[in-house]
Amino acid sequence: MATWWAERAWLGGPGTAAGVVLRTQGERLAAVTPGATSPPPGAVILPGLTLPGMVNAHSHAFHRALRGRSEGGRGTFWTWRQLMYAASGALDPESYGRLARAVYAEMAMAGFTAVGEFHYLHHRPGGAPYQDPNAMGRALMDAARAAGVRLTLLDTLYLSSGFGDPPEGPQLRFADADARAWERRVDQLDEDASVKVGAAIHSVRAVGPPAMETAASWSARRQRPLHAHLSEQRSEHEECQRRLAATPLETMGRAGALDAAFTAVHGTHLSAMDVAQLAAAGGGCCLCPTTEADLGDGIGPFAALAEAGVALSLGTDSHASMDGFAEARGVEMGARLATGQRGVLDAPSLLQAATAGGARALGWDAGVLAPGRLADFITVAPGAAHLAGVPVGPELVFAATAADVGWVVVGGRAVVAGGRHLAVGDVAAELGACIADLWDRVG
Ligand SMILES: [Zn+2]
Repeated sequence: MATWWAERAWLGGPGTAAGVVLRTQGERLAAVTPGATSPPPGAVILPGLTLPGMVNAHSHAFHRALRGRSEGGRGTFWTWRQLMYAASGALDPESYGRLARAVYAEMAMAGFTAVGEFHYLHHRPGGAPYQDPNAMGRALMDAARAAGVRLTLLDTLYLSSGFGDPPEGPQLRFADADARAWERRVDQLDEDASVKVGAAIHSVRAVGPPAMETAASWSARRQRPLHAHLSEQRSEHEECQRRLAATPLETMGRAGALDAAFTAVHGTHLSAMDVAQLAAAGGGCCLCPTTEADLGDGIGPFAALAEAGVALSLGTDSHASMDGFAEARGVEMGARLATGQRGVLDAPSLLQAATAGGARALGWDAGVLAPGRLADFITVAPGAAHLAGVPVGPELVFAATAADVGWVVVGGRAVVAGGRHLAVGDVAAELGACIADLWDRVG
């Protein structure tokens, strides 16, 4: 049993509570009691505003190596992808494990307590499996454990280069022989208290309808999350309609993939019918506004999704930015730009997407400060000039940054204290070394 005293805490809804005592038992919250004007004896004091841990529902850890190297040039998603492919070719289980540990440590310091890794870098360059065909996935699991964040490894099915064309070049590392081979490989992965296994369909480009059915039935049988990149690119959305006479979302629906375990990632070009179908199925949508802006994907139908009641979550995806507050307000800013209206999603709704919405999408019983839930919480520390005079409430989502995160507690154990990662230490040096090493190998 441990005791924490939060100066203020967000317990859901429009306001905050003062003097909240959080008692943890093992990895869960045993009691959450507001109104303590001073810390109980022996309590760890959390200054500032305590929130449930943020959940990064969509990540490709190795894309972090592209930050600052791809933004300057002209081009599109498709030219960015060439650089991403170059990075993907230079990683092996050891180097990817080390890089991912540093990326997840940066993520923890930013206030993320769980990550959904949309993992498709499975095999050796050229496509031959490693001796352990899950060597890369297990390296990511070890990396998350070492960095202290929960991981849902969304093991990604990838079979074709584009609507049935065979994979080629860098894509050979991503592809399993067929959907059954993917399923057999994924069934060999073990879970534990901080690691779960889920499934992902890379996209309608990379997976045809029969294979989608295999992934959907695996998810239903194992009761695990199923994610898919969906309608991120307008050209992909339109090509799917031409080839399959259905939108990407309709295609997923026909394959039996749409249910409450399903999360559409991006959904930038979803039609009004798609939004209604996703809402009716009880599915979610993971928005990644900083990556979508970085890649020039477009502004998604954020307002329509929220209005339809689609469960929203957030992801930093390519890690062009690693800041959950920036993702959350990016949704509202995008909605304002697209609709000409302010306050499309209010501050509590944005925080909800950043916390409980992500936990739901990844299958964790977290994201709410309430007894019985996982004891995953963070603090926004006071003191930075850009927070001076800002009300200490959910509205902080419009002003706070990743650098304001002071404490990060996962399963009742401090991972970050006073802005320092307790296990990894100098995250900047470690991350810098891993990225330099990767580009050295690319040549
Ligand atoms: Zn992605």
